Amino acid sequence: MPELPELEALRIRMGPRLEGKLITAASVNPKKAHMLRYPVDDFARELPARRILSLTRRGKHLVFATEVGGGGSPRWLVINPMLGGRFQLEDGEVAVPATEVFTVRVEGRLEMRYLDFRDMGRIYWVSDCDGEVPGYAQLGPEADSVPAMGLEAFRKRLRRFRDELKDLLRNQEFLAGIGNAYSDEILFEARLLPLRRRASLKPEEEEAVFTAIPAVLHRAVEAILANPKYEESKQDRSFMAVHMKGGKTCPRCGHRISQLGTNREPLNFCRGCQL
Ligand SMILES: [Zn+2]
Repeated sequence: MPELPELEALRIRMGPRLEGKLITAASVNPKKAHMLRYPVDDFARELPARRILSLTRRGKHLVFATEVGGGGSPRWLVINPMLGGRFQLEDGEVAVPATEVFTVRVEGRLEMRYLDFRDMGRIYWVSDCDGEVPGYAQLGPEADSVPAMGLEAFRKRLRRFRDELKDLLRNQEFLAGIGNAYSDEILFEARLLPLRRRASLKPEEEEAVFTAIPAVLHRAVEAILANPKYEESKQDRSFMAVHMKGGKTCPRCGHRISQLGTNREPLNFCRGCQL
């Protein structure tokens, strides 16, 4: 499931190719039309003749701001790709995969295709993100804004929550953008066990979380962008230290990496060097 780093890398890659462009056509795959949260006809009719003003990210959502020429009626296309949603930016000549949900064509024959092989992604076409996208108004600050927040504000925010650390990091009201994979990596970086309760943290351990969050997220964005062969649809996470590495050797201490939960959604950590 894409989290902040994957979506951030996607935004950095796709943004410059789409921002400022005029949408010339939009179409929906009839077999996947049930995934859209508004009438399909409206989507295909309303997008063309709009301009993509910006592509931003909010938590695990990619947000396309659009506007009709001349400045009227802004509307946002908000997509949370969930487990199986992927984006493809192609010349219109490249064949459309069967997993395509919708295609937005922009001037210059470029097509942005949203594909979904699990049909779980959430797609919203709204005039008010906070009011119309479920959970959007409740999102906490962006996880990569932690350094700007500062340690003391971070401590205050952290102490409002009682969860175990793993659940806390995944709680989008605490910070937006972290999910199952990066919460494992952040806790490994901070040397803390995922099932520790927030209230058990010593001040220096709170600081370790504060430092680990931006360090892990930043490194991941860099790793994704540095890989010229990175295929968004395959979501290569081989750069990770513990996530999905149950049974393998800990890169820090050599202990065997533990796994709880299912193979599909594992919780990985090292009992050798996380306390
Ligand atoms: Zn270890």
